Amino acid sequence: MARSLPGSYQPRCAIEDPDAAFLDGSSLPRRKATPNRLLRGGIALGAAGVVGLLAVVTPGVATSAIAANNPAVVDATPAADTTARPGTTDAFAVRGSQTDRNTLREEIETTVETAVAERAAGLENVGEQVAQAQTAVAAEARSASLTSTTTAIDAENERIKSQVFFWPTEGGIVSPWGMRMHPILHYSRLHGGADIGGALGAPIYAVADGTVTKAAEGYNGGSGNNVRIDHGKVDGVALETSYLHMNSLEISAGATVKKGQRIGTVGNTGLSTAPHLHFSVYENGVNSDPAPWLAKGR
Ligand SMILES: [Zn+2]
Repeated sequence: MARSLPGSYQPRCAIEDPDAAFLDGSSLPRRKATPNRLLRGGIALGAAGVVGLLAVVTPGVATSAIAANNPAVVDATPAADTTARPGTTDAFAVRGSQTDRNTLREEIETTVETAVAERAAGLENVGEQVAQAQTAVAAEARSASLTSTTTAIDAENERIKSQVFFWPTEGGIVSPWGMRMHPILHYSRLHGGADIGGALGAPIYAVADGTVTKAAEGYNGGSGNNVRIDHGKVDGVALETSYLHMNSLEISAGATVKKGQRIGTVGNTGLSTAPHLHFSVYENGVNSDPAPWLAKGR
C-alpha cells in the first residue's frame, strides 16, 4: 500500500534501500521506544521534516537520493507517517515521549523561573525592609537630635527673654561694682561699674532696648571710647547703661538700639590696664550696682 509522508513527498525510489522492506507496513518490526530510539526518532522527525520541505520545493528530484544515503530518513518514514494515525505504532510513543519531555522541560523551566522570581522578590522585599528600618532609625535619631537642639534653643530663648539685661559681652564679672583699692591710683574709691570679660575685640551688645545718648571716642577722663544708652523706664526705674574702655564704636549718638544689638568691641582705651568692658548702670541718674540687673531673671 502507498504510504505517505507529510506534505506532497512520496518515496518513489525506496526499493534501492536495503531497509526498503520495512516500508511495507505488514513487515514493520515492533520495537520498544528506548532512549536511543527516541533520540533517533527525534532526529528522524527533524530530518523527515527537512526532506519534506525539500520535496515541496523540488518534488521527487533530490529526495530519493537523500533517503538512499540516510537510513534515518527511511527509519523516519513510519514515525512521520504515524502522525496521521496516533497510537498505532511505537513511533507515536517516540513522538509522545518527545512531547512529554518538552512539556516536562517547560514545566521545570517555568517552576525554576517562578522559584527564582519568588526568591528574588523575597530578597528585594527584605532589602526594602532593611532600608526602611535604617531610614526609620536615622529619622528617629535625627528627630531626637532636633528635639534636643530645639529644647536647648527654647530654654536659652526663655532664659534670655526672662533676663532684664542681655549679657553685654562674653566672659563673667572679673571686678564687681563697689568700694575698692584703685588698681592704678592706689586709694580706696568707688568702682562705678562691673568689669566684664577681657577679650580684646569681643563684641559688646546693648543690654536692653534704648536710645544712644553718647558715643564718644578718645580718653574722655579715663573712660576711653564709650557709649551711653537711655533705656527709659524699666521696672519703674529710669534706667541708663554705659560701656567704657571700648576698642571700637559701631553706633552713633541718637541711634535707636534693640536688646542684644551689637554696639562695638571690647578694648583697653582710657584709664585701663588690660582689655575689658567697664559696664555701669544708672538708676534714676544715680550710679548703681549692675549685678542685680544682670542677675535678674536668671
Ligand atoms: Zn571698671
